[in-house]
Amino acid sequence: MPPKLNKGPCNVRDCNNNTSHYYKFTENAFQKSKEKNTFDNYNYLSINDQLCDTHYLIIVEPDRHNKRKSVDFEDKKISDIFTNSEEIDNEWKNIYDFTKLIDRINQLELQIKTNQELINKQNLNISNLGLTFENKLDILSKVLFKEQRKLNHSIELDPNKFSELITQSNFQLNGFFDRIFNALSPRYRNYQTRENDKKSAVGFCYLLAGAQNKFANELKIEIGLYLLASGCNSSAIDTLANLGISACYKTIDDYKKKNGKRAFYKNF
Ligand SMILES: [Zn+2]
Repeated sequence: MPPKLNKGPCNVRDCNNNTSHYYKFTENAFQKSKEKNTFDNYNYLSINDQLCDTHYLIIVEPDRHNKRKSVDFEDKKISDIFTNSEEIDNEWKNIYDFTKLIDRINQLELQIKTNQELINKQNLNISNLGLTFENKLDILSKVLFKEQRKLNHSIELDPNKFSELITQSNFQLNGFFDRIFNALSPRYRNYQTRENDKKSAVGFCYLLAGAQNKFANELKIEIGLYLLASGCNSSAIDTLANLGISACYKTIDDYKKKNGKRAFYKNF
């Protein structure tokens, strides 16, 4: 009979962790949680109960960070990695019990997940190395300038695409959009509000980028003029005006009448 898949739900009281990864609270896991004194807080659990990944970590692997420290790849030499793989070989040789095997697989799965998180963090740290907010704003300003004025691309209003666009243009902007968004949108807001906040965050990025150069005060008008010159109609411009990116159509129209036609992008 094939082993039953772990499909949850998590047996921890009031658990509402959103995950697709569940683990069985095996006899071995139970022993571990007793050894590590975590079982006391969850003593209503029984063997073979389901645990979400978060609770599995809390209950069965509470000391995983301590363990990982000793093999932190930052301090690790290549030779250590090879020695370690021998150790892993030996470890596997000693696994004869099926439950232990499952536990070991669970452990490794969690380890992979934790390592992946660590790698993501490291990448983010590398990309953020020594860069201040001002530096990043400067980079953003250049990226968006290039996008709009040199590549003649239209403004990207989709938050996900915008974030991807700036990160791909310059990897040092990795995570920058999320920081702006999180700074502008408190986490307690509901999902829909935050989705709308994301769109505003895109607008703020454009405005912040514009604030870096001498067109700061005129950014809304400049973008509006640019949109008008690119053939956008009044309702499209007013939509962008609502997002705080452009001046409204009427303002731009008045401005144009006053100042006449001018190829503003040549001033850059
Ligand atoms: Zn849970």
